[in-house]
Amino acid sequence: MVWEERWHPLREEWVIVAAHRQNRPWSGGTVGCPAGEEPAYVPDCYLCPGNLRVSGARNADYTSTYVFDNDMPCASPDAPKDLEKPPGVYRNRPAEGLARVVCYSPNHSLTLAELETTQVDELLAVWQGQYRELGSRPEVKHVLTFENKGEAVGVSNPHPHCQIYATNFVFKTIETEARASQRHLKETGRVLFQDILDAERADGRRVIYENDTAIAFLPYFARYAYEVFVAPKRTHPHVAALSQPERRDFADALRRVVVKFDNLWRMPFPYVMPLHQAPTDGGDYTGFHFHVEFHPPLRRPNLLKYLAGPEIGGGNFLSDTAPEEKAAELRAAPELHYKHAPREEN
Ligand SMILES: [Zn+2]
Ligand SMILES: [Zn+2]
Repeated sequence: MVWEERWHPLREEWVIVAAHRQNRPWSGGTVGCPAGEEPAYVPDCYLCPGNLRVSGARNADYTSTYVFDNDMPCASPDAPKDLEKPPGVYRNRPAEGLARVVCYSPNHSLTLAELETTQVDELLAVWQGQYRELGSRPEVKHVLTFENKGEAVGVSNPHPHCQIYATNFVFKTIETEARASQRHLKETGRVLFQDILDAERADGRRVIYENDTAIAFLPYFARYAYEVFVAPKRTHPHVAALSQPERRDFADALRRVVVKFDNLWRMPFPYVMPLHQAPTDGGDYTGFHFHVEFHPPLRRPNLLKYLAGPEIGGGNFLSDTAPEEKAAELRAAPELHYKHAPREEN
């Protein structure tokens, strides 16, 4: 069983080798159940209230959100410390940190798109608390909060939840964004993300939704057909810095985006949704602007965007769609979730 971090000297990044997780029972009992027909409670779901998990721990009888340490963590204080020393140029080190799971709701059948704005706001408050708590641990250099949603991204349990990886390194994308933001601030005196927001507003075609303090847009440079960013208008380095009114506005924008996603094809819309937040390694991240990114893998219903030669082989994306057209589809999608809307007459 290998559980450690290995340095990739060519990409200059850490790879987490967590071979102890290969048998993880990371699925619920509802595979094959048609979408939208899951019950509110599933007796053998490891995320439902009161149920037993693989570790032997029992979930609390929670009524809103619920946070627990991942039973099969990729990073943990218990990760092996006595590692086999690799030869030559190779480096390894313990996979220190923490991995957690956040349930959005006790209701097994709901998705983020079906929560009320107040419930999304509660979830944001949990993300704030987790960022503060985990980010203050000395071994934690970055807090990656993300939701994988749908079988298209490997999640068979529909119980609404996200994960948090609090790691002893900064994930590569965040490192790249932080470096670009720092350089832009130094060279121009401006926040890079504010310049992006200005450019999006100047064009306007890709802005999906806007309220007093938050904005959602499909960026000019989108790599996925329906890639959407949600951001506060003021620059904050992480979710914990949002004020209460800003958090509420952010929850409103986030909810509207996921409702529009579901309404596009009247189906639960799969995505990977990371929070991009400043590292917690003590560096200066003045120019880092917190945002949420949606990376939906579908181009059309049942048509996956495969990552292949250019993306996996070369590291750059080849996009088969025009961001302006996809943004127009999202702008036109209704704001009332289809499950709550009367069926249109044809
Ligand atoms: Zn469940
Ligand atoms: Zn980002």
